[in-house]
Amino acid sequence: MLPFERQQRIKALVQKHNSIKISELSKLLGVSEMTIHRDVKPFVEEGLVIKTFGGIAIPSQEKSLSLDTSACEMCHRPLDSRLSYKLIFHDQHTETFCCPHCGILRCHQTQEGDLLEALCRDFLTGTITSAAHATYVIDSTLDMQCCKPQVLCFEFQSHAEKFVRGFDGKICTYMQTKDYLLNHSGNTPSL
Ligand SMILES: [Zn+2]
Ligand SMILES: [Zn+2]
Repeated sequence: MLPFERQQRIKALVQKHNSIKISELSKLLGVSEMTIHRDVKPFVEEGLVIKTFGGIAIPSQEKSLSLDTSACEMCHRPLDSRLSYKLIFHDQHTETFCCPHCGILRCHQTQEGDLLEALCRDFLTGTITSAAHATYVIDSTLDMQCCKPQVLCFEFQSHAEKFVRGFDGKICTYMQTKDYLLNHSGNTPSL
């Protein structure tokens, strides 16, 4: 296959799947990962695709986003960049979730030591931050139309405190949020 043909196939594949791993492309097209990297380089430069963890993806409307799937791994809702929550495993695979609610519950299911990192986005600034050290606000009155009980994530506790002054909610650490979700999820939300 000519490089040009291969690039057309790659383009078609990523458009079809929204995102695809370099290793998968290399297998599908029977060339080395190095070659795939070379093939996709112009696409990345043109902004046609974005690089993700080990692959490429069609950029979503929000450019800054580094999601590599289009639906939550837990509940299959479409991913909302502002709420998204990401788990990175030691074996390099990643899982993305619609919101901290799903992400934290999934975290709880993983085996001790499997997880390399859990990342979430600060609800106000969009900064990516470590989930373990973030501050969470549960059940605020600002309804983001995602999973209930609703969990929002903040990089700084002071921001979470300001937020609850306007929108109520309960300020929690990671562990408190996890306990709360384990006790409350699956139930219809009530006060
Ligand atoms: Zn979800
Ligand atoms: Zn959700």
